[in-house]
Amino acid sequence: MLTFSLLLACFTNCSKSFKAIPAGTQSLSSQILDSSSTSAPQISSKTAGVTDANCQNNNSFDACIVWKNPVASAGRVFPQILQRSTDLSAIQTFGVALKNRTSPDKLISSTITVSASAGTTPVFQNGQLRTTYQSDSEKSWLAQLMAYFWISYQESEMTRRTGGFYPTGKAIPVDAFATDPTKGSVVGNAYYSSTLNKVVLGYAVDENQGIAHEMALSAEVYLHEMGHADLEWALDGSGIDIYRDPNASYVVQASDGTNHLRSLNDIQTGDVLLSTFCKTVDGCMWAINEGQADFHYLMIFHDSTPLAETIVNKVAGGLETGTVPRDVNQLKTWSTQDIFTKSASKYNSGSIVINGEIHGMGSAYASILWTIYTHPQMNRTHFEKIFMEQLKMLTPNSRFQDARESLVGVAEAMADSNLNGIHYGPLIRSIFTAKGVAP
Ligand SMILES: [Zn+2]
Repeated sequence: MLTFSLLLACFTNCSKSFKAIPAGTQSLSSQILDSSSTSAPQISSKTAGVTDANCQNNNSFDACIVWKNPVASAGRVFPQILQRSTDLSAIQTFGVALKNRTSPDKLISSTITVSASAGTTPVFQNGQLRTTYQSDSEKSWLAQLMAYFWISYQESEMTRRTGGFYPTGKAIPVDAFATDPTKGSVVGNAYYSSTLNKVVLGYAVDENQGIAHEMALSAEVYLHEMGHADLEWALDGSGIDIYRDPNASYVVQASDGTNHLRSLNDIQTGDVLLSTFCKTVDGCMWAINEGQADFHYLMIFHDSTPLAETIVNKVAGGLETGTVPRDVNQLKTWSTQDIFTKSASKYNSGSIVINGEIHGMGSAYASILWTIYTHPQMNRTHFEKIFMEQLKMLTPNSRFQDARESLVGVAEAMADSNLNGIHYGPLIRSIFTAKGVAP
């Protein structure tokens, strides 16, 4: 039995805050993979609402929010990382409908219940809410509106494109600006808790390590977290726990304060999990989970792939794990071995050299999925169907080869019934090979 809670599927390393990557990160090219796609693109995420400079006075919208996140929407950075109460009137112009609410004065659907334990409850008038970020300081209403809208949009799009979204109807609490009850302060990260079936969103840090703004202003963050929820619910009833991963190494702090590298079966009572990484270049389920979660946000923001632009205050976005950029377009020419070498932590004579953690190999898996998705011979909707169906095939033992075999198997099984008779198995296999995954 695991004796500590392996319950957090964090947006980034649970024990560390976000880091920006240096500009011009060198890429090690082992294979040049075609990055252009001629298959029909999905509809733009910008059609999810209507951009209207007069949004705040237009009663045809339920709310005026920000497309994706403030830096992505503005196309420029702020003088410093976005601070609460900043005037965002120039970009808070994305007029949206808040669909599927069970009550017109609440951000609740059968799938999600949005609130903010470190904010206040939004006050609607006739089912609509006009609020400016400038006046939002202690309320976090824009954060809540954005979380409700973008997760609901993800649900409707995934259902429309693939036929279903596994968390539908599962009443997932989404805390859009979360207080940590054990500390009494706002959470400094974002994660999905499988044991609580809950999405928790905290704050982005400023230079003084204080609260800058709500992570819930960055839609890609909770589309990622809902990817974890999607996988959990895809496996619902299977009785398996994907966090019991025999192919992962666990960096823990023991009860005597010393750090250790454990395998699954060596974990001791009182261990606190600090970090996780795959044991080998073959990958592991934790990395597959992080990679598939990134792919969840990429399917919606396929027209804007950078991650966390506002959180790092860079137009190009950028988080890194070790020295691996968490950016599927930058990683297209990286092999799985490149990524493993540059993002796996090491255990060296009693001390652990932290060189990265699980999101590094997560990016390796996301990069493989993205390369398949954007291949000229792939119809993107077809791959979305394959991807969603394959989630049900993943197990705690899954490595990248196993994920490949289940993707190929699903693609071949669905070819005649769902994919217009197109057999994508060989293409999927060839891309795993080109990315350096062992046969
Ligand atoms: Zn995650």
